[in-house]
Amino acid sequence: MILYDPSLTMRFRDYGIMLPISPDRGEQTLDFLGRNFYPGTRGKSMPYPGPVFSIADALALLDGEGDIISRRDLERLHGGDYIAALYEDSGGKTLERELLNTYELLDPQGRPRRYEPERAVKPLTGLFTAILAQTAGTYLACRLALAEGPGFCYYLGGGMHHARYDAGAGFCLINDVATAAAKILADRVTRCRKPPNPGKPVRLVWIVDMDAHKGDGTAELIRFARERGEFAGPRRDEGKRRDGSGAPCILTLSIHMAKGWPLDSETLAAAVPGRAPLLPSDIDIGIGPGEEAEYTPRLAEGIRELERMTAVLTTTAESGGQSVPDLMLVVDGADPYEHDGLPSSGLLRLTLDQCLERDNFVYRYAADRDIPSAWIQAGGYGGRAWEPAAHFLQGIR
Ligand SMILES: [Zn+2]
Repeated sequence: MILYDPSLTMRFRDYGIMLPISPDRGEQTLDFLGRNFYPGTRGKSMPYPGPVFSIADALALLDGEGDIISRRDLERLHGGDYIAALYEDSGGKTLERELLNTYELLDPQGRPRRYEPERAVKPLTGLFTAILAQTAGTYLACRLALAEGPGFCYYLGGGMHHARYDAGAGFCLINDVATAAAKILADRVTRCRKPPNPGKPVRLVWIVDMDAHKGDGTAELIRFARERGEFAGPRRDEGKRRDGSGAPCILTLSIHMAKGWPLDSETLAAAVPGRAPLLPSDIDIGIGPGEEAEYTPRLAEGIRELERMTAVLTTTAESGGQSVPDLMLVVDGADPYEHDGLPSSGLLRLTLDQCLERDNFVYRYAADRDIPSAWIQAGGYGGRAWEPAAHFLQGIR
């Protein structure tokens, strides 16, 4: 199924932010599917990938209500002081300052940069509500993938994977990816599917991040949570609780441009040791210019390494010796696409066929093993950013 809700669309220009992000990517994707895939289906059962759910549809199916993402959900992985700043506990202008920093809206001299507040029709701080709604969408996509059904949900939104423990970064204020995965574990959501663990709470999640830019914020948040003893990790000494039981686990894989932001020399030189972007994911795969043909084979090798880590990790844990996760959260960035419009993603230039090879490989991997998979749209800039996901969704059965 697809999760799409027009009310979640982030229209940055409404806030005076002049980023080359097309607000209509979800709509363009559905338009394409409507023209090429759905004609003649009225009155018949909807072909795969199935119906398009709104947030209200999702909540009705899941018996949910109210605020989907609470302040406590944000504090689970982000620093308490940072979240307090976003909620304006100090009564100051902290949320506005964090947004200006996150979206890099001021130059070093403090002058507006790609920011035209005089053209805004909404206050900048209103973005926080929209970002919380985006985060809720990512969580609901996970819930829908885990619910009875095909075990696949593609959310036309989400993917703010650069947000760190105590700061926003790279246009990402809150890390919806890590927050949603952690909430699934904390809520002890069960997977209502087939073996190996029907009905058991989700204990192990893989985040497979295929955005052009490294998922550095996600890596940091998960590692910090492991250091606090809240999650298990691939090392034997990670995640043993005081009572000796195994903690739940999130393993991270990021396949991305080998160089370029956030791995450019200037950013790395300014980085604090032990903090993103220096912190590794459990598996990092850097693809250099000209190595595009190796992308999916190297991704496949990374997945096999995740399997090995999982098997080691679960031999003593509650889930008992499995090599696959209970849920895959796939960050399906479109910015590796050769026609992406963001200059900083230009060091990776997958053709449309290579994007489809990537997506189909991951999709088949999960489907063949009955692993529920939730997909989020993530990066993608310019007028053709909708194409990889739309063609992928059109082709799957
Ligand atoms: Zn990106």
